[in-house]
Amino acid sequence: MFSADGAGWAPIIRRAERELDEVWPGHPQPYWEEKFGDLCWKSCPLDQGREVWAVINRATREASSTCQTCPSPGRKRVVWVGMDWGGMPWVKTCCDTCYYLPPVRARSGWEYQRREYLQLVELYEDRS
Ligand SMILES: [Zn+2]
Repeated sequence: MFSADGAGWAPIIRRAERELDEVWPGHPQPYWEEKFGDLCWKSCPLDQGREVWAVINRATREASSTCQTCPSPGRKRVVWVGMDWGGMPWVKTCCDTCYYLPPVRARSGWEYQRREYLQLVELYEDRS
């Protein structure tokens, strides 16, 4: 979770950084992260010009419709992460092939997490 790594987003990040080199010479190395399925630059200095934001916004927009894991078109899906420590719902941008929801066994706390899961689905998944 939080990681922006993945074969789908890597080219988007590489291109954004090339474009940043042009509009903002000597810019700090961006720290990209994934947040609710969106690509963002964590703690980006806010006082940047329009061109810098245009580069970042374009990358974010493109990432929001590109599977993070592979270069296929993707959309926001609620997945389950952290299975090794019990798991929790999380939003990722992925394609139908990379989308995977592990079976979750009934156990204590699951009812609560199920509500959280359904809320995230309601908020983030496009009905299509
Ligand atoms: Zn994929």
